[in-house]
Order: sequence, then structure tokens, then C-alpha cells
Amino acid sequence: MSKRQQQIVAIVRDRGPITGERIADELSLTRATLRPDLAILTMAGILDARPRVGYFYIGDHHAKDLVGDLFRKYQVKDYKSLPVVVHEHTTVYDAVVTMFLEDVGTLFVVRDEGVLVGVASRKDLLKVAIGQSNLHEVPVSVAMTRMPNITTIDLEATMYDAARKLIEAEVDSLPVVRCGSEQQLEVVGRITKTTVTRLVVELGSLRNV
Ligand code: ADP
Repeated sequence: MSKRQQQIVAIVRDRGPITGERIADELSLTRATLRPDLAILTMAGILDARPRVGYFYIGDHHAKDLVGDLFRKYQVKDYKSLPVVVHEHTTVYDAVVTMFLEDVGTLFVVRDEGVLVGVASRKDLLKVAIGQSNLHEVPVSVAMTRMPNITTIDLEATMYDAARKLIEAEVDSLPVVRCGSEQQLEVVGRITKTTVTRLVVELGSLRNV
């Protein structure tokens, strides 16, 4: 809630039922200025309005998880981007080139048939690059974090789950996976911090339309 919305809620909680005009007077604002806030608080189920009576407080227990509920409506399968994958036998040199050409910060490392075996981040590759090894010979699998230590996200999960996993695992990117034959995880997409940020901007811009 914005500061003004919190002030409105406090006024209605202490003095409700109270008309929109009186709330506006209390805050030295016009009724028109307050209208969008009152609409949001009513829609969120925090306040209710009765004609000729005014606004009264219902409680914010309905509203606690507004953002979580919103993000749970969006599906990973609709927001995922294309995964950038390299084969486990790819050299570190070629992996670095792929990272530049594809303009990504994380590569998913796969075995044949797209089965996920690891994740190689920028720092993983830098670590090998500052060592003594020959980048044309060392395979990316030496540098990567391997299964089963990879945090993945299911194709059927929500964007809330994805955002939470990115934060909890402290990583930039999650492979979107589907369970293939013999319980192997097949890489079918990618969710990054940018994907989540893009969704935030998309949701934020809805209010400016
Ligand atoms: P960077 O290392 O470039 O800062 P990250 O923060 O994403 O990028 O990666 C940090 C470490 O976590 C790296 O060693 C990387 O291999 C590993 N990593 C990246 N993504 C995942 C993931 N989804 N699951 C598990 N480990 C990951």
C-alpha cells in the first residue's frame, strides 16, 4: 500500500463509517485525488462502501497476499524464453563464444536429447579462464554446476514459484524443465531475473493505460 492508502485505511478504521468527502478533508486533498486510492482499497477488499453511509473498514486479511496472488496467475510456460544450451562436450572457449553470441549470462549444459546435466554461469567460465588450463581443450562440464545441484522450474509452475526459487537459490537463471523418459529432465526454456522484471513492468504499465 502507498503511504496515502495507509493513511486512508487508518482514518476509516478509526472513524468509519466515513464519507469520501470527510476523508478528503482530513487529508487536505480533493475527492477526485482520492478516488483511485479508494477504488483500489475497495477492490482489494480492505474497505467497503455503502451509499449514503460511506466507507468502512473490513480488514487487510484479504489483501495480505495481493502481489503473490497476482504472480500466481501467470504461468512459466507463457513467459519462459528460449533456453541457450551447449553440449557437455563443448569446450570452455566455445561456451564463452556462445555466451557472447547469444547474449546470455547462463548456459544450460545438456547431454543428447536435451537432458539437463549442468549450468554454466559467467563466473564459472571466468574461473576456468583465469586458471592455467587450455580453454580449447577443457570441456564446459569441468566448469559447470552439475545435477542434482541444479534448481529447476517446472513448465507447469507459476511465475511466483519461479521468482521465489531465483531468490532462494541466489542465481540469475532457472532452466525450465519437463520430465522426460527415465525421470530425466529435459530443458524446454529459461526463466531469468529479467523475465520476472519484465512481468513486473508489464503489470505496472497496465495502470497507466
Ligand atoms: P554468476 O556466477 O555469473 O554470478 P549466478 O549467480 O547465476 O551467476 O551463478 C552462481 C553460481 O550458481 C554458479 O556457480 C552457477 O553455476 C550456479 N548456478 C546458476 N544457476 C543455477 C541454478 N539454476 N541452479 C543451481 N546452480 C546454479
